[in-house]
Amino acid sequence: MPTSQPSPADVVIIGLGAAGGVAALPLARAGLTVVGLEAGRRHSPADFAPDELRNNVRGWPHAVQKANREIPTHRPNASSPTLPRLAVHPMMNAVGGTSLHYWAQSWRLNPWDFKVVSETTRRYGASRVPRGSTIEDWPLDYAELEPYYDAVEYEIGVSGKAGNVNGTIDPRGNVFEGPRRREYPMPPLRRTGFTEMMADAARSLGWRPFPGPAAINSQPNQDRSACMYHGYCDRGGCHVSAKNSTAVTTIPRAEATGRLTVVTEATVTRIEVDARGRASGVRYLKDGRELFQPARVVLLASYVYENVRLLLLSTSPAFPRGLSNNRGQVGRHYFAHNLGGGATALFPRDLNTWYGLPAQGTAVDDWADDNFDHSGLDFIGGGNLFLYSDRRPIAAANMNTFGKAPQWGSRWKAFVSENADRWKNAYLQKTTLPYEDNYLDLDPVVKDPLGFPVCRITFDFKENERRVAAFVQEKAVQWLQAAGAIAIERGSVNPTGPTTHAYGGTRMGFDAETNVVDRWGFSHEVPNLGILGASVMGTSGSRNPTLTVQALAWRTADHLVKSWSQRADA
Ligand SMILES: Cc1cc2nc3c(=O)[nH]c(=O)nc-3n(C[C@H](O)[C@H](O)[C@H](O)COP(=O)(O)OP(=O)(O)OC[C@H]3O[C@@H](n4cnc5c(N)ncnc54)[C@H](O)[C@@H]3O)c2cc1C
Ligand code: SF4
Repeated sequence: MPTSQPSPADVVIIGLGAAGGVAALPLARAGLTVVGLEAGRRHSPADFAPDELRNNVRGWPHAVQKANREIPTHRPNASSPTLPRLAVHPMMNAVGGTSLHYWAQSWRLNPWDFKVVSETTRRYGASRVPRGSTIEDWPLDYAELEPYYDAVEYEIGVSGKAGNVNGTIDPRGNVFEGPRRREYPMPPLRRTGFTEMMADAARSLGWRPFPGPAAINSQPNQDRSACMYHGYCDRGGCHVSAKNSTAVTTIPRAEATGRLTVVTEATVTRIEVDARGRASGVRYLKDGRELFQPARVVLLASYVYENVRLLLLSTSPAFPRGLSNNRGQVGRHYFAHNLGGGATALFPRDLNTWYGLPAQGTAVDDWADDNFDHSGLDFIGGGNLFLYSDRRPIAAANMNTFGKAPQWGSRWKAFVSENADRWKNAYLQKTTLPYEDNYLDLDPVVKDPLGFPVCRITFDFKENERRVAAFVQEKAVQWLQAAGAIAIERGSVNPTGPTTHAYGGTRMGFDAETNVVDRWGFSHEVPNLGILGASVMGTSGSRNPTLTVQALAWRTADHLVKSWSQRADA
């Protein structure tokens, strides 16, 4: 039997990453006692060396990570064999979670992303929603999430240029974005010769480029430094804390209230329920002991794969198929963002991008979402086009030779030496939909070192995703050619296993028959269990997930504070 902790908490949060680390703050400020159980440990800025060999090649800190011991398996469909497993899990176990080493692009979704079914039906007819997709409208719209986007942007510090403040359009920002109540808290990250070159090329095509938003200080902000633009924050933390991670923003602020207790190196293995089927607390392992943390409310925030796995592992007489899974919805509506089908270009001159970072770039939204007419097209959705300034030596040398040199020997060396700063890869994030036969469950064979099954991914991209990819790739090629590229290689869309942009598995929706959580992020079946992270998202939009994940986390926490007496267990 586990040893009970002496003091029950009002709220226990499983995982203090991008989502859990944000939710802790409004809860603690409201005076609730919060315990954050985090599988990883604390890192300090001194741990974040700008070292490509260590961070990107040897995979620090993944090698000592819990996530690495439970890498999900993947098969493209239910009748295909499991593909070879990834060697390294992309996500991070630490206080701050993957926000420690993410790129920090900080996008809001567009209003269309919340209403894909009804808007597609209204504009093009119901038959345009792809067959086999389980997509639903979100149970909230952009306007309802906007105050939470705003709160998070100001709390963590986001740099950018607004394109739509209360309906006033500003062509220096994203003219397609939904209305925001005010400007970003900071101006965009600085422009470079390369980002300006790409903006000019986009304008020459009649497109409307703008600087991408980033959770990175473009100027000193609150108690943190401005960015130094030296790069190395792709899979590395920021040693001057200019980049947001919840470890340097919301978590220390929540701790300063005296209401948040952070327990590190605490691996949660199970969520417990009482005889009424309400969550009563969680079991976790720390220092070789099994402990039980009682709580009146449980918030699950351990990233998509672990959110699903922990629910499926938490069986009980009330929930024999896994917690909150009496309707068989846990693991359904899973999808991996379609990031494949890129375009890599070679230019005839140096681009001078040795200084810079992946969030410092020029974006184009003209071909995203439903920002253009799809009447004559055979797909719905689109993609955000992004070209950024980052370059690191090992990655630079690992370049495509565009058929102009062999892959080895002195001619290869000479080619790389001349062209290492002359190539760029367009980052294309595209609409991806959930489908009936894409899902997560527990692997029947592969187990982690504790003996628990790992998560199994059954997933492949479908026709709509491939058509979007081909269309958006062609736009990227046009853009690169307009900027003067002399050679372009087109990438393909391949089956995707564990990813940094995973969605679904505990989807949010009105209907308890097709969704795990309600419109507030609380389980339809267990009213004092909340779920945070992209596992609740039913669509991806054409941009990275984390700001939306954080806005939703703040909203769920805010709802909990306001409805405490109904939600909390007595
Ligand atoms: C290299 C990289 C670049 C990225 N760039 C961007 C970007 O530019 N913009 C963007 O929007 N997104 C980006 N992402 C994605 C982003 O990191 C995720 O969307 C985000 O971190 C998800 O938040 P989360 O809280 O759900 O998960 P995480 O931030 O991973 O946090 C989950 C936490 O739960 C903990 N945990 C897991 N299991 C347990 C357990 N059993 N018990 C206790 N604790 C547990 C983990 O240790 C972790 O701290 C990037 C990701 C990577 C890897
Ligand atoms: S480039 Fe900026 S955000 Fe990235 S590690 Fe350096 S200072 Fe930090």
